[in-house]
Amino acid sequence: MSGRIVFFTGAGVSAESGIPTWRSGDDGVWKTEDPNRVCNINNYFKCHDEALAFYNQRQEIYSKCQPNAAHYAVAQLQREFPNDVYCITQNVDDLFERAGCVDVDHLHGSFDTMKCLNCGNEWDIEKTKIYTKSDYCPECKSNKVKPGIIMFGENAPKYTQLIDFCYNLNADDTVVVIGTSFDVIPYQWVAGKVKHGEPPFRILCNLEKNYSISTWVFDKVIYGKITEHIDEIVQIVKERKLKR
Ligand code: NAD
Ligand code: ZN
Repeated sequence: MSGRIVFFTGAGVSAESGIPTWRSGDDGVWKTEDPNRVCNINNYFKCHDEALAFYNQRQEIYSKCQPNAAHYAVAQLQREFPNDVYCITQNVDDLFERAGCVDVDHLHGSFDTMKCLNCGNEWDIEKTKIYTKSDYCPECKSNKVKPGIIMFGENAPKYTQLIDFCYNLNADDTVVVIGTSFDVIPYQWVAGKVKHGEPPFRILCNLEKNYSISTWVFDKVIYGKITEHIDEIVQIVKERKLKR
């Protein structure tokens, strides 16, 4: 397999849609919330009211936001090159889906499901659902249930798949990284060594320089707002695709 276009995105891709990023900017979520309280599974039930309020508030913010040019561009590329464009995101919002993207891989889960910590059951819920203390598992009736997003202290089952997928990319492929500090997922998982030959062509677009990312592993580094650079990125990936 080759000629794949892989988008790997973080909170920054949704920033211009009005969703605060985790750490950057004046409105970063952690400037107002302590991640070790509301978003840590070990504390989740200890501060249940606060955590439910936090997630309900997230849901409300997300539902009012609209996809931006970057989400739409990925969807358009998927239509132009069916099966060759991969959309992998750390985000839990659904802006890629609402822009028309298919098979969005949410590494940290989404608000589409709930999970039972008692029996492991996971079930679909309406996006408009408001989380309450009386939520319970339809299988075992336990109320040890939580939104289907991966919290700190929980396993992220998709990480192994991600590492394997990126390790098996090749020089014909293109990886486009948008809007991530790589604080949660190490950049080496996405832009590290590959199994055979030369690595894929790698593009990074972040708002500003982050000294923990070794930018030399990227062939093109862009600092600026993604909506102002997405056309340039699309042009590069298309040129590479059509040159093959
Ligand atoms: P982060 O907040 O740590 O980093 C955001 C990155 O995006 C920074 O590197 C910043 O330079 C860049 N950025 C900000 N605005 C940008 C713009 N307009 N254009 C281009 N780049 C921009 O986010 P992260 O690395 O994704 O990691 C944190 C975790 O936060 C993830 O696990 C994710 O699940 C979670 N998160 C998700 C959402 C969401 O679903 N939209 C929002 C906040 C946090
Ligand atoms: Zn259960």
